[in-house]
Amino acid sequence: MSKGLLNKLYAAFSHDIGIDLGTANTLVYMKGQGIVINEPSVVAVNQKTGRVVAVGGQAKDMLGRTPAHIQAVRPLVEGVISDFEVAEEMLVYLLNKSQKDSKKFFGPRVIVGIPSGVTNVEARAVRDATKNAGAREVHIVEQPMAAAIGIKLPIHEPAGNMVVDIGGGTTDIAMISLGGVVRSKSLKVAGDRLNDDIISYVRNEFKILIGEKTAEDIKIAIGVVVAGEKPHEAPIRGRDLVTGLPREVVLTDADIREAIGPSIDTLVDSVKEVLETAPPEILADVMHRGIYLVGGGAMIRGLDNLIEELVKIPVHIAEDPLTAVARGTGIILEDIERYRDILIQSEDDLPKAQ
Ligand code: ADP
Ligand code: MG
Repeated sequence: MSKGLLNKLYAAFSHDIGIDLGTANTLVYMKGQGIVINEPSVVAVNQKTGRVVAVGGQAKDMLGRTPAHIQAVRPLVEGVISDFEVAEEMLVYLLNKSQKDSKKFFGPRVIVGIPSGVTNVEARAVRDATKNAGAREVHIVEQPMAAAIGIKLPIHEPAGNMVVDIGGGTTDIAMISLGGVVRSKSLKVAGDRLNDDIISYVRNEFKILIGEKTAEDIKIAIGVVVAGEKPHEAPIRGRDLVTGLPREVVLTDADIREAIGPSIDTLVDSVKEVLETAPPEILADVMHRGIYLVGGGAMIRGLDNLIEELVKIPVHIAEDPLTAVARGTGIILEDIERYRDILIQSEDDLPKAQ
């Protein structure tokens, strides 16, 4: 049978998908349909039986609330796979869930977007796990590249494009031209770090212990990196470290700024660093076209303006920044031949495990 005919058959009898394997959220894009799954990257495991109890939103609700024998685990922490088995369970779940409504005959072709800091061993584990979960074909792409494609930057042109993907575990900064990453940097300062900063600040300033979810909620509710005209405030509840009893305090946007300030500085410095090492032509392009922010952290209020002011280059928040990577994997699926050059052909191209 000719290859063209075989591909048509595959297209008719399978549902190809793209996966954004994020540290905070995992999304699945189904060819022809768009985003069909959008869930927190969390898996709850029963330690006694070793079985998975819940995945995604259900598992996230269990974080910090589980009895001793049930553990809610995030398979990716700070951009690296912290637990291979759990990561595989998550992929199995995603494949089953996305294929269950379709009575398709062949396993799907799958494009998986992985954090740019993962090692060759981890990338191979993702490839194998996706294959084991029933994929017919697996292709790997680095998330900043997928994000750039997702927001329709002209990555194949001889023009400098710059994306800053601020996720949960890592911020990935990449300069892309002619289908390749020209300069990049991945740092472990992103949404999770900001949450930790808020937890430490509240503990030190108010002697109250708050949980991760409370910290994240307040960050999103009142966080803003430059002082505005009207102050924002919101109450938070936690455990008083002195009395051990519940206590409520009111936090302001100034508190959040003080808490996350050093991390925000680190983030901006890293953007500067990448710009400073860029080849001059690429830098000139970026100055002209601007820097694109994607990932949940792109929505940190005022961050776009702050970066713009400090690096003197226009900064754009991508439309729907949380889905950029998933949309990118979808665009690749629709025309895989056009994007062959940006897919990771072999894990040997990636950094060796440390
Ligand atoms: P990942 O790609 O690592 O899974 P995401 O791109 O899904 O991460 O982003 C998740 C992060 O974005 C979380 O740390 C979350 O707290 C943060 N986030 C989401 N919405 C907002 C918002 N409106 N303001 C600030 N941070 C946000
Ligand atoms: Mg991401």
